[in-house]
Amino acid sequence: MARGGCWAPVVPTPDGAPSPPASVPQPQQGRDMDSIDEVLGELPMPPYVTAEDVGFAVRAVTVHAAEQWPEGPRCRNDRAPHPCRLHRWGRRVLDRRGLSDRQVQALIAEQEAPRR
Ligand SMILES: [Zn+2]
Repeated sequence: MARGGCWAPVVPTPDGAPSPPASVPQPQQGRDMDSIDEVLGELPMPPYVTAEDVGFAVRAVTVHAAEQWPEGPRCRNDRAPHPCRLHRWGRRVLDRRGLSDRQVQALIAEQEAPRR
C-alpha cells in the first residue's frame, strides 16, 4: 500500500493555551511536537557519522529549510512545522560530526551554490 505524502495539519495550535501540568515532559524546543513525529518517532542516527552522512545531512537541512507562514515557520518541503523530522535529523548528524554552526552554514552555502 502506497503511503502518500499528502497530509494536512488538522488541529491548529491555539496561542495562549494553558501550560500542561509539570509532570508532562516538555520538548527542548518549547514547541508543540507534530503529531507525525509522535507516531513515527525520531529518525535513527547512523552509529558512526561518515562524510557521506554529512552530505546527506546537509542536503536534508537545505531541502527542509524553513518557509515563513502566517502561523509560523514551516518546512518548505513537507509543510510540517519547522524544524521537521528530516531537518532535525540533519542537524543532529552534523552535531554528532562535531561541526560548528559556522561550518554547517558554509556547507549549506556550498550545496546551494550553483555548480559550474
Ligand atoms: Zn521537511
